[in-house]
Parts: sequence; structure tokens; C-alpha cells
Amino acid sequence: MARIAYANGVYAPISAPMICAEDRGYQFSDGVYEVLLLVDGLLWDAPGHLARWQRSLDELEIAAPMSEPAMRSIIRQVVRRNRLRNALIYMQATRGIMSRNHVYPQPAAPSFVVTARPFDLSASHAKAEKGVKLMTAPDIRWSRADIKSISLLPNVLAKEKARQSGAAEAMFHRDGIVTEGGSTNIWMVDDHGAIRTHPLSRRILGGITRASVVQCAQEMQMTVLEDAFTLDDAKSAREVFITSATSLVIPATHIDETPISDGEPGPVATALRESYERYCRNTGICP
Ligand code: PMP
Repeated sequence: MARIAYANGVYAPISAPMICAEDRGYQFSDGVYEVLLLVDGLLWDAPGHLARWQRSLDELEIAAPMSEPAMRSIIRQVVRRNRLRNALIYMQATRGIMSRNHVYPQPAAPSFVVTARPFDLSASHAKAEKGVKLMTAPDIRWSRADIKSISLLPNVLAKEKARQSGAAEAMFHRDGIVTEGGSTNIWMVDDHGAIRTHPLSRRILGGITRASVVQCAQEMQMTVLEDAFTLDDAKSAREVFITSATSLVIPATHIDETPISDGEPGPVATALRESYERYCRNTGICP
């Protein structure tokens, strides 16, 4: 069965030409996106993702393509038409279609696209049980990494380099300070058992999983420090792990060629993954 996508009022097979050549997303990467997980028919951590969607639009002064209920009804349709109960849902809005010009004096109707593809939670669990390798990469992104913009070229290049080296994720750093991953937030467990991650700032995307994992950790009486750490701190940490909507919580076993502790997934990351999954199941909502 061909996957069905939604674009600007039309549901069609994903390979159908649905985007105009003068869409500003295509020409300028002038747009924002969100990724949400659907598990057993429920959206996980959805209020956070929907709030960040609106914030990204506001920061770039792109009009909301439609109301939240209308957007959720499209998500429902895309999920239903693709017969999915476990899915990664991708939504994107761009500033719209205009004759190519950097400036945008006349606001256009924003373009809106929703796609979905199958998500396999048991494959994700298997990945977490094995752990993943990280590859360090200089963070050459713009200074508004807090906006979930579709401008992802540095992330794309760093993640592909990581893949080529056998790593699952790039670990961005600015002058040795770890910022975040190519598409994840990065954490470490220090010698005192405290968990640390980069503070919220314009340097990182405020992950929705990050915020919920902070809560889960605090409920488990863990010390959470929103403090930056260095590559050296991370390489000599008890544990390192990554978080995102699509990975949930995944332990890292190596940074470049350096094993983290014994090079096996650690207990803190594993406990947080279980706790985060429980939290998502308890708070999941229908699209
Ligand atoms: N940082 C970056 C650069 C990302 O692309 C993502 C994935 N959206 C994250 C962090 C994690 O965010 P979330 O937990 O909201 O998926």
C-alpha cells in the first residue's frame, strides 16, 4: 500500500508531486517542523510538541496554518489512511509560496504537510538494550538552535559522517562544550550519580523528551543538573545517553573510540527509559 501524505488540502500518495517549486521551504528552508510518536494509537508527550510547534512558528513569524483541532484532525486522517497504530508523525509548515525573493513583504498562506511512517517500539527497545556509539562533531549551526527550523544542513552532514564511522548519532560541541546531538539531547551521569545536560538556551533545542525526562528523574529522587559539560567530562562519565521523541532514551556505549565506563548500557539510562515510557503511556492522548 502506497503511503499517503497530506499537503495543502490534499491527501495523496507520498510520491505524488504536491509541493510547488516556489515554496519557500524548498527554496530557503523557511519553515518549521515537529515529530511526534504515536504508540498503540496514542500520541506521546503531545502537549509539549504542540506548544513547541507554535513557539517555532511565532519565532519565525510564520502564521499558524490552521487551528490545533484542525491540525489534529489531519493527523488522525493521515494515521487512519495509512492504517497505522504505531507511527512517527512528521508535520511541517513553511512561509508559503511566493515568487523567489529573500524578503516577504506580502504574507502568503503557509504551506502545511503531514506524513507518517511506521514506528517499531520493540526495535527501539532492542537498540536501547545494545546502546549506540556517538561521534563528536564541531557544532557549526546558527545561533538559534532553539527554533525547530527545517534548516538542518549541519545536522544532516554530521549525522551522515557519524553513520559512515559506525556511530548512530553526532555529538555536537562548541570549543569542547557538548551542546546536543544531531537530532537528540545529550546527557551524562557524573561521579556523584547526578545527571547533567546542557541548560536551555539558544544553543540547543529544548527537547520535549528532555523536559519530561527531567521530571521523571526528579520523581525518582535523582539529582538533575542543567549544567554544560565538556567532551572530556562525557568520555570519563559513568554513563552517557541521548533523548528524543523518536529514540526515547538510548544509552551511549562509546564516544568516538572511547568506551563509556565498561562500554555497556548503564542502569540510570535504562531506568529513565522505563520511567519515561511509563509516563508517556499514562499521559498519551488520541490525535
Ligand atoms: N535536538 C535536536 C537538534 C533535535 O532535532 C531533536 C529532535 N527533535 C531533539 C534535540 C530532541 O527533541 P525532542 O525530545 O522534542 O524530540
